[in-house]
Amino acid sequence: MREPDSFPKVSLGIFPTPIHRLENISRLLGTNVLIKRDDLTGLGLGGNKTRKLEYLLADAKKQGAEIVFTTGGAQSNHAMLTAAAAGKLGMKPILILKKRGVTERLGNQLLEHLMGTDVRFVDTDDYADIYAEMDRVGKELGRPYYKIPCGGSNALGSLGYVECAREIRDQGIPVDHLICAEGSGGTMAGLALGAKLYLPDTKVYGMMVDTDPFDQITPALMREAAALLEADLTISASDFTLRDMCGPGYAIASKAGNDAVALMAEQEGIFLDPVYTGKAFAGLLEMAAEGRFGAEETVLFLHSGGAGGLFAVKM
Ligand SMILES: *Cc1c(COP(=O)(O)O)cnc(C)c1O
Repeated sequence: MREPDSFPKVSLGIFPTPIHRLENISRLLGTNVLIKRDDLTGLGLGGNKTRKLEYLLADAKKQGAEIVFTTGGAQSNHAMLTAAAAGKLGMKPILILKKRGVTERLGNQLLEHLMGTDVRFVDTDDYADIYAEMDRVGKELGRPYYKIPCGGSNALGSLGYVECAREIRDQGIPVDHLICAEGSGGTMAGLALGAKLYLPDTKVYGMMVDTDPFDQITPALMREAAALLEADLTISASDFTLRDMCGPGYAIASKAGNDAVALMAEQEGIFLDPVYTGKAFAGLLEMAAEGRFGAEETVLFLHSGGAGGLFAVKM
């Protein structure tokens, strides 16, 4: 088997990210709740996409790309971080975004404006149309280009979270339950595969914040990433647990999610976001209320970022 960092990587973030205990939340829930601060990855306002981009943009560089395309909704944290990273590496980012969500110069749109990013909106929900538009623009510009899928969630991007699981092992804190948001799947697939490799005693939970068939997406991505790593593993549905925390819809705030954002802010002075991490933390709170965590057990919550989008929504 290959280690994830045997693949070409560019350095974009500051790692390892800290793990610390949430003292007040732990007291409230009667279990040990720790947080992995991937909101402090260093680039932009932090967030999980940095780990994926270290692999994806190394591949873009290797292929000689001068332009990097990616996509997402108007407030995509992934698109904003891709723009920040590609620009820093001397490639031109072009964002082909879905005309969904807040398109005014707020939140991530403001950050993209500050970076001078080329942002184009397309009025479609069909990713096939969006990737075709990338090809059209790329050919029109006549420069070598690289396309990153929505969320950076392909097998190569997922290696960033396989590596994160190894980082958690190396931080030396035994974890019983590892919880993250699942939006396009790469983070969860990487963590679930990484846990299989490096944290065999840890259960991994994906808190679904979108309505895609993650029961199929997650193991498929895990298998592809395992194949990249030449890891001889059997991936099955028992490698991870999913929980539907989407509420009224992707990027539409839920009461449970907003309450979780408020609780974390009040109790710990840490800001979650309404689209991903608030809903994911609401899932953790539900599981605690259902008595799924023992008093002596350790729950690790992945704070995957999202600060950029926080300033685009009314809460
Ligand atoms: C993209 C994102 C996620 C979800 O990660 P996926 O790999 O797309 O499932 C979680 N939190 C934040 C803040 C994100 O931007």
